[in-house]
Order: sequence, then structure tokens, then C-alpha cells
Amino acid sequence: MTARILDGKALAAQIEAEAASQAAALTQRYGMSPALAAILVGDDPASALYVRRKAEAFGRAGLRSETFHLSADTPEPEVLALIADLNARADIHGILPQQPMPPQITPRTVFEHVDPAKDVDGLGPINMAALLVGRPRLVPNTPAGIMRLLQHTGVDPTGKEAVVIGRSVIVGRPVAVLLLQANATVTWCHTKTRDLASHTGRADILVVAAGKARLVTGSMIKPGAVVIDVGINRIEGKLVGDVDFPSASAVAGWITPVPGGVGPMTIAMLLKNTVQAAEAQFHAARHV
Ligand code: NAP
Repeated sequence: MTARILDGKALAAQIEAEAASQAAALTQRYGMSPALAAILVGDDPASALYVRRKAEAFGRAGLRSETFHLSADTPEPEVLALIADLNARADIHGILPQQPMPPQITPRTVFEHVDPAKDVDGLGPINMAALLVGRPRLVPNTPAGIMRLLQHTGVDPTGKEAVVIGRSVIVGRPVAVLLLQANATVTWCHTKTRDLASHTGRADILVVAAGKARLVTGSMIKPGAVVIDVGINRIEGKLVGDVDFPSASAVAGWITPVPGGVGPMTIAMLLKNTVQAAEAQFHAARHV
């Protein structure tokens, strides 16, 4: 193995500690304590696990979080009514509608109803637009975590070839925009891309967010590249990424493990966004 491991768990712990001390400072200075409301609709076990992990991370950092668990048959207007209540609560600073949602609910509609100041997922239209025009406010958590991991390698994206596999709104699109803002030359790949390996093979920075186990193998990677594996796939009860770790780590310069790479960073960036949102709401309220 030649690659250095990009340890998301360790970096996330550092970011959680930063968020915890920022939150403690807000409490001390202004008597406020940043808080998240997570909305879980239905009984998807993976979603329940993610919400629990987020709540645990908030607890570890001394931040408040509340979980609103609604039944799987909850009509969309009821979810929107809950969001309206949470938008109006001064003691809630971040709202997190956990995806996926049952079919009667359109996730985009839900995100559109979250107050942009409380959109700590960064997935609502206002925060997405801010990102696109180069004035990011609350940045989506997973892409923000990927950029922090990249920063940790010390590799400057300026002028580098960055290839992103995946164009979802939660990962692929925003991370490509962030890489572009960091002055990389960005290529976006998806299921209609012809000859994926011809693109991945020239990537200095390769971000893989396809949700396909072992889609990228060592022979598709440029020697020395930074490889960030976002994928989470369950194969025979084991979690694996979108990158074939044994072959890829023999070629790459840096590589994220799965688990322990991007996953913990996503939660850490949610904490950071919640603290940032709480501080901004506090100052905005004082200037009304
Ligand atoms: P998604 O909405 O299903 O999008 C997958 C994207 O990958 C699509 O744009 C798709 O292309 C592309 N794709 C799929 N198969 C491909 C292939 N064979 N070749 C090239 N492109 C391909 O998934 P997502 O929500 O972005 O998530 C991606 C993965 O990241 C999943 O495994 C998910 O569990 C994981 N994830 C992890 C975290 C974390 O915190 N670690 C957070 C979010 C997501 P088309 O657009 O053409 O269909």
C-alpha cells in the first residue's frame, strides 16, 4: 500500500471539539445554546440510525437536539406544518429533515419550506443558489466535509484535475461547485458518461459518490491521486465504499477508508453549521 489514509474519524473529532467550544462560547457570552430539530418520517432503519448518530454527536458536543419522529403515513401538509412551527421557534436554530422520506412526501418541497437561516443541511434553494453564485452560507454537510478532508491533505486544488463521479443534489453537484471555487478543473461523471476510466485516470483529485460498490478500482486511478470515497454500500453485512480499497490504496497518494472517512465528517459539519446558524440568528434578532 502506498496511499496515506485520510482519517475522517480523527478529523471529525477535532471539528466536533471546535464546534463544542464555539457553542460553549455562545452560551457564555449570550446565554444561548445552539439546537437542532431532526425530523424523521417513517421507520427506515438506516435513517433512524443516522438521526441517532447525529443526536449522539450533538450530545457529545454539549449541544441540544430534538428528534420529531412521525409515522410513515404522515401526509405532506403535516410535515410542512411541523416545519412552520420549528421555523417560528427561537430556541431551534437548525432543522434537519432526514432523507429518504416516504413516497407521499416530496423532499424538495420539504427543503423549500425550511427557513434558509435554519437550513443546516444546506439543501434548500436559497443556500444552494448562494453556493452556485460563489457566496456560500450554509454549505451541504457531506460536500463541506469532503473539502475539509481535501484541505487536510495539503493538496492545493488550484489548477488540478478534479473528477467527481455522481451528480446528486446532496453530494455530486455541490462538491463539484466547491472544487470549481477552489480553482480545480472539474469533470462531472454520471451514468451516461462514456469510458469512465479515461476520466478517472487523469484525476489528481477523485471524488466518488455513485452508490455502487467497488465501481472504481486501482487501475482507474492516477498514481498519487487524492481519492475520496463517499459511497456507503452494504455487502454481505459489511460496509464498503464505491472504491475498491485494496487495489486503489496501492496506487493513490491519499485515500479515505469506508467506514471512517467521509461519514463522520458529514456529522461534524452539521454541528458546525448549526453553531454558525445559531450565531447568525442571534445577531439577526438583535438587529431587528
Ligand atoms: P444518488 O442520488 O443515487 O446519486 C448517484 C450518482 O452517481 C448519480 O448521479 C448517478 O448518475 C451516478 N452513478 C451511479 N452509478 C454510476 C456509474 N456506474 N457510473 C457513473 N456514475 C454513476 O446517490 P447520492 O445520494 O449522491 O449518494 C451516493 C453515495 O454516497 C451513496 O452510496 C450514499 O449512501 C453515499 N452517501 C454518503 C454520505 C456520507 O456521509 N458518507 C452522505 C451522502 C451519501 P445519474 O445521475 O446518471 O443517475
